[in-house]
Amino acid sequence: MYQLLMGSCEKVRWRRLISHNKSSPKSLLISWVVMWGRLPTLDRLLTWKVVDGNVCPLCYGSLESVQHLFFECGYSAAIWSHVLTSLHFNRPVGQLDSELIWMVRAAKRTGDRFKLLLMLFVECIYGIWLQRNAKVFTHACSSPQDMLKRDQIQTCL
Ligand SMILES: [Zn+2]
Repeated sequence: MYQLLMGSCEKVRWRRLISHNKSSPKSLLISWVVMWGRLPTLDRLLTWKVVDGNVCPLCYGSLESVQHLFFECGYSAAIWSHVLTSLHFNRPVGQLDSELIWMVRAAKRTGDRFKLLLMLFVECIYGIWLQRNAKVFTHACSSPQDMLKRDQIQTCL
């Protein structure tokens, strides 16, 4: 009966990013919502006719989507670049799908550097979301350098 009620529950490929991660609960929750594609970014709000436009509030140079907000935006790219360099990963920041594939592979690796990478990935997603919200609601946000000074991030770097 339980199996019938639950249906077929396929495991999502990015489950290790969340389940084997010791980041803060809030950052894990927001990352989980991002990976399910349910974050209320402006592109989604625009389709629901909740907002009039969807220009990225962090750079005003592109339309806000999960892809842009967390990976393409200059604000986020500066953060990822710093994180990757700090952990001695020599690679450019890619698209959402390619970054998730890379992170899933990293989640299977052992070692402190990979554990820190997963924690920083989730904490930066949350930090970028907080700064995006601050910019939307208060018209001010921290610089990428100041965002990286958050306690949850500094303890990992
Ligand atoms: Zn942007």
